[in-house]
Amino acid sequence: PKAEIGVTGLAVMGSNLARNFARNGFVTAVHNRSYAKTQALLEEHGGDGTFVGSESAADFVASLATPRKIIIMVKAGGPTDAVIDELAELLEPGDILVDGGNAKFSDTIRREAAMREKGIHFVGCGISGGEEGALLGPSIMPGGSKQSYESLGPILEKISAHVDGAPCCTHIGTDGAGHFVKMVHNGIEYADMQLIAEAYDLLRRGAGLSPAQIADIFAEWNKGELDSFLIEITAQVLAQVDATTGGPFVDIVKDVAGMKGTGTWTVQTALDLGVPVSGIAEAVFARGLSSQGEQRAAAQQVGLPGPQEQWPIEDLDVFVATVRVALYASKIVAYAQGLDEIQAGAKEYGWDIDLGAVARIWRGGCIIRAVFLNRITEAYDTTAEKPLSLLFAPYFTEAIGGAQGPWRDVVAGAARYGIPTPGFSSALAYYDGLRAERLPAALIQGQRDFFGAHTYQRTDKEGTYHVLWSGDRSEVQS
Ligand code: NDP
Repeated sequence: PKAEIGVTGLAVMGSNLARNFARNGFVTAVHNRSYAKTQALLEEHGGDGTFVGSESAADFVASLATPRKIIIMVKAGGPTDAVIDELAELLEPGDILVDGGNAKFSDTIRREAAMREKGIHFVGCGISGGEEGALLGPSIMPGGSKQSYESLGPILEKISAHVDGAPCCTHIGTDGAGHFVKMVHNGIEYADMQLIAEAYDLLRRGAGLSPAQIADIFAEWNKGELDSFLIEITAQVLAQVDATTGGPFVDIVKDVAGMKGTGTWTVQTALDLGVPVSGIAEAVFARGLSSQGEQRAAAQQVGLPGPQEQWPIEDLDVFVATVRVALYASKIVAYAQGLDEIQAGAKEYGWDIDLGAVARIWRGGCIIRAVFLNRITEAYDTTAEKPLSLLFAPYFTEAIGGAQGPWRDVVAGAARYGIPTPGFSSALAYYDGLRAERLPAALIQGQRDFFGAHTYQRTDKEGTYHVLWSGDRSEVQS
């Protein structure tokens, strides 16, 4: 039989995805640049379902039923372009070419336009969940034409994760929308991980608890509103004992956080769009600071001064609860900012993105999966008028409102006793900025008008004005 779906690029992600299709009953065509990987997949996992392996791209394309549906799972960047070019020569109008790699959304927009000229549907598709997700059910964020989703959607929905019977896959929007949303998903993941790391640091250095004790606290937190994959694995990582030293695993790991670039893309894009995603930016910068090895070593040598006193904690249970509430409030802000970026991207690039649906497909399969996402879906699905910020949805306004005391205590204490909490602190600063009736931006406008005649607007009447600062300082309309 002709294959219903094809996968080219059979490294970890591609082979697991191909197995997922086969296990779900789809006849799956498989192909890889070097044939060895194709052979290995067929030998080791041929029993998963019906595979059709091909050595050449031409045979691979010929093995698929039309309109063909091919998922590319190769290295992002140049390799993806090379594979697209090769396949485009072999495909026919109406065929669907899916890029499931971590492409930059702007590359996807370019590729979609080029393929559209040939009559080929190009679908930039975000896939989250790592290796395990690819095999057992990822969260899938496809862009591309609505028409392509009619035949591709049901196949992707079937292999995606499911929560409460609903697939974690939906058509996000045209051309680069899927990769854009996947990018912001990763940015939010950075922010969430940073906030969790700060909570750990507060409990470790602030309260003097051991990793094992903190593991128990996170396991407990995972039963409440913070219930999520990231909190769950945090408990497991903290509970891990190093076999060599017999000490906590977290203490023998070099404190240098790596990154592959999607967090940076999220922040760069946000800067271009003018959206303040301070939580994501602080998370990227915090990883950057951790990597400044020479400077950090020099700082130890110089002995940069800090506060003298230790955090005086009277009631440990109260302190732990305070950190939990501050973490939750900061997390809400980080997600609100990420959703703002999606909304701004949608406006800029003409995508019709349903934020409630985005939160719904993030509930399973992906790294930021969390019970809390149900609340976000509700926030966008139940109100006729979509909130301008997640923070204005009643549930979240109330949650943040109830967090005021603990949130401020944690941020103030962290500053007082010298524990860096850029995520917690920037979230609170953003929140206070957003709710301020007047911002000192008025003064900045005055400064800009003074040194650059950049003009300003008045609160009491229409028009654009300028003060003759180097003259008689009278106001003129410009
Ligand atoms: P890699 O990113 O390591 O890519 C390896 C694959 O790319 C191999 O199949 C390789 O073929 C192929 N390849 C490289 N260069 C070329 C080329 N010029 N022409 C044709 N094929 C080429 O594989 P992963 O499975 O880790 O990831 C695949 C994609 O999925 C990437 O875009 C990645 O960003 C994305 N992704 C990865 C996740 C993860 O957790 N790893 C999660 C979500 C997305 P060959 O065997 O012949 O060398």
